[in-house]
Amino acid sequence: MDKREFQAESKRLLDLMINSIYTHKEIFLRELISNASDAIDKIYYKALVDDSISFNKDDYYIRITPDEENRTLTIEDKGIGMTKEELEDNLGTIARSGSFQFKKDTEIKDGYDIIGQFGVGFYSSFMVAKKVEVVSRAFGQEEGWKWISEGADGYTVEKVDKDEIGTKIILTLKDGNEDEDYDGYLDEYNLKSIIRKYSDFIRYPIKMNVSEYKKKPDSDDYETVKEEKTINSMVPIWRKNKNELTEEDYENFYSEKHFGYDKPIKWSHMSIDGTLRYDAILFIPERTPYDYYSKEYEKGLELYSSGVLIMNKCPDLIPDYFSFVKGVVDSEDLSLNISREMLQHDRQLKLMAKKIEEKIKDELMGLLNNDRETYERFFSSFGKQIKFGVYNDFGINKEKLQDLIVFHSSTEKKLVTLKEYVERMKEDQKYIYYATGESVEKIDRLPQTEIIKDKGYEILYLTDEVDEFALKIMNQYSEKEFRSVSSGDLGFEEEKITDDEAKEGKDVFRAMKDILGDKVKEVRFSKRLKTHPVCLSSEGEVSIEMEKILRTMSNSSDVKADKVLEINANHPIFEKLKNSYSIDKDKFELYTSILYDQARLIEGLDIDDPVEFADRIAKLM
Ligand code: ADP
Ligand code: MG
Repeated sequence: MDKREFQAESKRLLDLMINSIYTHKEIFLRELISNASDAIDKIYYKALVDDSISFNKDDYYIRITPDEENRTLTIEDKGIGMTKEELEDNLGTIARSGSFQFKKDTEIKDGYDIIGQFGVGFYSSFMVAKKVEVVSRAFGQEEGWKWISEGADGYTVEKVDKDEIGTKIILTLKDGNEDEDYDGYLDEYNLKSIIRKYSDFIRYPIKMNVSEYKKKPDSDDYETVKEEKTINSMVPIWRKNKNELTEEDYENFYSEKHFGYDKPIKWSHMSIDGTLRYDAILFIPERTPYDYYSKEYEKGLELYSSGVLIMNKCPDLIPDYFSFVKGVVDSEDLSLNISREMLQHDRQLKLMAKKIEEKIKDELMGLLNNDRETYERFFSSFGKQIKFGVYNDFGINKEKLQDLIVFHSSTEKKLVTLKEYVERMKEDQKYIYYATGESVEKIDRLPQTEIIKDKGYEILYLTDEVDEFALKIMNQYSEKEFRSVSSGDLGFEEEKITDDEAKEGKDVFRAMKDILGDKVKEVRFSKRLKTHPVCLSSEGEVSIEMEKILRTMSNSSDVKADKVLEINANHPIFEKLKNSYSIDKDKFELYTSILYDQARLIEGLDIDDPVEFADRIAKLM
């Protein structure tokens, strides 16, 4: 029989599993049970929607059989099964390979990380087994197939007789040593507790032979007899009473479902009992999934109809701006046969989606108001998505979301809400000021912020690309308009430039504008600079920051901000400019170019010709 190679990624993952020192190896059982449950789901669903398929209800169970003598543990189901091709495809390659490829070798050391961060599914069995056999017969097939692997060097597939449809997984446990002992996975009592811990809510009975101490019939003596018992309670967690559930139950459910490999920051258990009845559990993850801000990411909640899974990720249940939310929704009022297209227009579904959205918002507002530290962790993972939500669709959702966004600020160490900002605005303050830049530290040093800080006004520090776009769409908050610190009108009386000064500047600035040409719209005295010599500001709709972003996005430079070069009249540099203007035209040209380039650098813009800039400085020296 030919030995086949694993696909490269699978091999790496297998190696990891085999050598893993992960402390919760018992989760392999959770993975195999969940696969068995998925397989039964598939055949159950088929039978439900297709009358020509008969399926015996008593067959919907999963059987666990430990065999101490041969040191094997068998997990068996009568689910949909796998064909030969499916065995090779599903078990020889990693379906969710993207998640694994994403991690570089250097990031994976002892396998802890990978197990912690990505659901490893079937391969986790290699943490405890030295040999894994999968015997399966697929629905609609006459023959069965047996897949065998003893580790990373490959697997074989051979034809076998199998009476029934379904899958049987036989693990031959590792031998164990002083450090690690695998016998626990043959121990009835231990197995029971693992099953209850991780798989209690699996909808199908998980059966196992357990010892019962019983009175012998027709005698007063007792004996130990083996009896098949259902180990799990089978009540889906969302149907259980909230009061009976612990934090751990929710966290286990979250990881069993592979909603994330972090711990959820928050969950919400809804049991709605009105004209429309449904149960839901919603989770807010802590960390951003690796593909979250990519096209691959699919939002959605698991949708059940009376306990039967009808869709893995129903996107219509949550809006895009809350696409990070994971969870399940189960309703008795949804038809099993409902198609994707019909779901989209389903009135019931829309009602549920609305309630769910409100609930998520309430939970987030609760965190924001009562546990700011956790909210900041949440916001650093998903805040960007909410800000996109403000901006997208022409700002249609801005009112709904505006109180959820937070920004850094010039006066506070923590992130602040718009409400907090407005509440402490100075009496004479007209606008909500903001400044944009790469980092808080860089923004804090921007010359344009000086005058506003001097007035004692707070400035919001915008560091995400989407920030300014979001504020532009909002336009105002609580009737206060947003205003960039670089904007022409700052909304207060600035120090007047005297008539003399203005006259002095006029010719100099016109000459500077001639030198700079299209690069600037105007050169003028600055009303906002205190200690710094120059800065750039913009006029009109497009700010300098937006120009930068639009340029990186479209790679073209069509959209340009109308830039104004501002000169500080009280800075010695102005005297120099004036002098050179009247006596040394070459030097004047040199100064002008250098000042312009400096202003660009301060703004975080690149300069047209760095070599020339360096040459000019050298010349000056
Ligand atoms: P996942 O369950 O996330 O898809 P796994 O590694 O757990 O990843 O399983 C890989 C695939 O193998 C499953 O998607 C399924 O197609 C198949 N599979 C595993 N176990 C069974 C089973 N007991 N019955 C039928 N198919 C199975
Ligand atoms: Mg799985």
